[in-house]
Amino acid sequence: MSFFSIIKNWFTEAPHFEGTITATELIGSRIQKVTISLPSPVATQFPVGCYVQAMTSGVVPRAYSVATADTTSFTLLVSFGGRGAGARFFADTPVGTVVKCYGPFDDFPYRAGTGRSKIFFATSTGVAPFRRMVEEALNEGLEATLILGTPKESDIAFRSDFEEIARTNPYFHFIPVLSASDPLWQGARGYVTDQVSGKTELLRKSDIYICGVPMMTLSVLNILKKEGVPEAQIFVQKFG
Ligand SMILES: Cc1cc2nc3c(=O)[nH]c(=O)nc-3n(C[C@H](O)[C@H](O)[C@H](O)COP(=O)(O)OP(=O)(O)OC[C@H]3O[C@@H](n4cnc5c(N)ncnc54)[C@H](O)[C@@H]3O)c2cc1C
Repeated sequence: MSFFSIIKNWFTEAPHFEGTITATELIGSRIQKVTISLPSPVATQFPVGCYVQAMTSGVVPRAYSVATADTTSFTLLVSFGGRGAGARFFADTPVGTVVKCYGPFDDFPYRAGTGRSKIFFATSTGVAPFRRMVEEALNEGLEATLILGTPKESDIAFRSDFEEIARTNPYFHFIPVLSASDPLWQGARGYVTDQVSGKTELLRKSDIYICGVPMMTLSVLNILKKEGVPEAQIFVQKFG
């Protein structure tokens, strides 16, 4: 079977639907938050951690993690730092546009029932799957730490949601880390990997989820290996 027939069959056979953009919002200078409504309500919302393949400009497939979902719609965070094909499509496309989507694909699920605390490492739009995973962990009564790397304060997606959860739930620790922060920024600076020194015990007793740019993923994996975190406790979304 040729490469092209494999791709053609994959797209023919995969579940798909026509979604409609119902809201689109610029977050900072690099992220478009896009809400897409489903053609009809579903009995069960899209799984936590899943992604969809959106056919941008009608023909260019791009994968995006589902950040929030209910039975009638879901939300994506689209990075357009590099202004690639998918980025340009979502930055320029107005409310009301129909987008064909394949999925949802559920290859980065939240692992319930391990009893271990959770540490989520993300950069920029890589925070998308963690918007709901944080709540899953807290619903299980587990400690959850979100370490989110991004250049500037204005680029922190779901900031008010995470701050509100942290304010009301002592088990949640939200650590935004800025690499190009304003001098007035009171929080952490640098990279997400700067936040793990001295946390060997916490790392070893936690499930670790990683989602974001390959450079961050590799750096975190390197640290986890050195710290002796068992591989069975590490889950990576292959974003880039
Ligand atoms: C499972 C999975 C989940 C994902 N989830 C998300 C998500 O939630 N959010 C998200 O944003 N991404 C996500 N991604 C990545 C996403 O699918 C895209 O690969 C990524 O957003 C870049 O797509 P793009 O079309 O904007 O850029 P591409 O067209 O793929 O280009 C990539 C880069 O190449 C460079 N480039 C492209 N065209 C040009 C040009 N003409 N001139 C110069 N440079 C150029 C740019 O730097 C650009 O950023 C996910 C990927 C996977 C596999």
